[in-house]
Amino acid sequence: MRVILLRFGELYLKGHNRNIFENTLIDNIRTMLKGEDFKFEKTFGRYVISNFSQDAESRIVLKLQKVFGLYSLSIATEVDAKEQDILEEVLKIDCRNNTFKVFVKRADKAFPISSMDFAKKLGEEVLNKNEGSSVDLYNPNKTIYVDIRLNKKAYIFSDIIKCQGGLPLGSSGKGLLLLSGGIDSPVAGYLMAKRGMKLEALHFYSYPYTSLLAKEKVITLARKLCEYVGEIKLHIVSFTTVQEEIHKHCREEYMITIMRRIMMRVAEKICDKNDLGAILTGESLGQVASQTMQSMTSTENVLEKKPVFRPCIAMDKEDIMAVAKNIDTYETSILPYEDCCTVFLPKNPIIKPILEKVEHEESFLDIDKLVEGCLGSEEIMRITLN
Ligand code: ATP
Ligand code: MG
Repeated sequence: MRVILLRFGELYLKGHNRNIFENTLIDNIRTMLKGEDFKFEKTFGRYVISNFSQDAESRIVLKLQKVFGLYSLSIATEVDAKEQDILEEVLKIDCRNNTFKVFVKRADKAFPISSMDFAKKLGEEVLNKNEGSSVDLYNPNKTIYVDIRLNKKAYIFSDIIKCQGGLPLGSSGKGLLLLSGGIDSPVAGYLMAKRGMKLEALHFYSYPYTSLLAKEKVITLARKLCEYVGEIKLHIVSFTTVQEEIHKHCREEYMITIMRRIMMRVAEKICDKNDLGAILTGESLGQVASQTMQSMTSTENVLEKKPVFRPCIAMDKEDIMAVAKNIDTYETSILPYEDCCTVFLPKNPIIKPILEKVEHEESFLDIDKLVEGCLGSEEIMRITLN
């Protein structure tokens, strides 16, 4: 019988919290595989998925590869833990003109032959059957694993497929991702979700300065993230008035700093209302004027209680782009629709804003009213995969 063996990594580190983590992971696996026919078992410390149809196999594997907290998986054959049955299965693996080794693990000590001896015996049979094969114990091209378990079953496999790693979604609370149409913020969302954080998202748009297509683009990006996180509540807020007012009343070079401070205030209010524990952004140190240490300090200064998590802070653009390609958001992110941050963009934004001066510029605005206005414009969409 074909089965899929699942392995998790860091969960082992979690001591008495481990049960909660495991249950969360199992729930997430079931949610991810919704609509598929399969049996899920946890037996003797292993997760085993079985009873799926042959044509569903590759689809199920692709879905499992998107479950955070899973470390790796193997497609294996389950047979009765009898020498002859195991041998037959092992001999089906093609080792012609290749180096290999056989690795036997025996949880069931009642199995009549020791792991070492059995590995040797199987190895000899593989050598005889496969022309041009040779044993290499230290650096083989192929490893044949034979895992003999206490349930009197043996699992035979030769490939280990890497999964996402990270922590089960939902085991690290819930955050509000500031989602622009750019490359960095979807990556930031993905990285935090990978550490177990569920996501809601907030997008500011400046219609009619930015086109409705910019909004569509953000919806597409959120949907791409749903491949990993299932669903996203997307808060869409109009930023037009804010930008017009800053443009009218404040010195041009402070435009971006003040915009970002208002974004943060709105974000914190939405966090409070939706029970979200942190604000997530795609900022990367020094990438642009608004992402210097001083800029981020003056942006963060308006927050009363929520932390800002910036998982891309120490990443080069190249590395962020590589992740974006990996999670398939890149092609959408580079579509040319304007982001609200490009409206009224100053020629020389202030690179190291001084808090007192920023506050002075802000004193020409009715901040509370602007924040309320943003919240009043809020539109909520529930984004799912379909
Ligand atoms: P990105 O590629 O994520 O757009 P960026 O390099 O263009 O980032 P900025 O435009 O300075 O950088 O934005 C920094 C961060 O602020 C973004 O990563 C995002 O988290 C947030 N942000 C920017 N614009 C918006 C927006 N219109 N709506 C929501 N969040 C935004
Ligand atoms: Mg941007």
